[in-house]
Amino acid sequence: MYDHSFVLRNYTDNHFKGKIRIEIVQTEQYLKAGKIASEVREMVRIKDWIGKTVFEICEEVEGEIIKRGAKCAFPVNASINEIAAHYTAEPNDPITIKDTDLVKIDLGVQIDGYIADTAVTVCYDAQFDGLVKAAEEALANAMSIIKTGVKASDVGRTIETTIKKMGFKPIANLSGHSLDQYTIHAGKSIPNIWSIGGFTLSENTAYACEPFVTTEQGGGFIRNGQIKNIFALNSRKKTKNEEADRLLDFIWENCNMLPFALRWITKEWEEKQARELLEFLIKKKSIQAYPILIEINKQRVAQAEHTFIPNENGVTVTTKAE
Ligand code: MN
Ligand code: MN
Repeated sequence: MYDHSFVLRNYTDNHFKGKIRIEIVQTEQYLKAGKIASEVREMVRIKDWIGKTVFEICEEVEGEIIKRGAKCAFPVNASINEIAAHYTAEPNDPITIKDTDLVKIDLGVQIDGYIADTAVTVCYDAQFDGLVKAAEEALANAMSIIKTGVKASDVGRTIETTIKKMGFKPIANLSGHSLDQYTIHAGKSIPNIWSIGGFTLSENTAYACEPFVTTEQGGGFIRNGQIKNIFALNSRKKTKNEEADRLLDFIWENCNMLPFALRWITKEWEEKQARELLEFLIKKKSIQAYPILIEINKQRVAQAEHTFIPNENGVTVTTKAE
């Protein structure tokens, strides 16, 4: 008689092994991306960026990622003072770092679409050192409580409590996020404040945790700004404009569905034409543009960020410093 239990067991074993193999490969790629991201972040942390333009910063940091054999998961963000996030340099952007500035440098590394997302705040004005310290401590405290099954709302509570104890405010409407292959925001949010409900952290899932901190005078919220200089593909549907379709293909091949900057396409198209094509594709809804995010009371904002994978006993912080 044919042994069905054997067939089933064999199927289950192979299926199980296949799943485990995928998880091992994924974890390896997450760790590789994380190691590169942490090396580059630590280089960013100790470097003196005063007098450099944001164009120089973004290009140099992206160059460091590429030099290490990885790709950028998104354009390097260099968001100054009350701009909390989502500012990347325009081509030849002349904005220059002053000795009073607080700069969030947020970088993403990807290997086969597996992402390490990490950020550091550089600060040259001692009166804002506390803000940076609060973001770093909130992140460290959050990492210390993480393991499989921990509630995202408890991570938010830890972040909020740490920041408030130090006399500052968390940004309530910015949060961390689950990650997936070629996907930066994969559907789940890791809040920076305590909130009702939410989900529990799963094993073999990568998440980013990113506390944002502002001063007591801050509103503790961000709003969208006018400037939009980060973009991502929305749809690959043909547009009947040959050059626009060529741009869509170029973005898909180089970035997949991940974000990109105008700087990345002016290597292939002249700037004026690149801007026109982008505008056309935004109107067609083939491309979406992300606005910069500004603190509602225009107070300074600091940020710290790690990517992590929870496990039964604790957490692997893929972007932890050596
Ligand atoms: Mn980030
Ligand atoms: Mn992030």
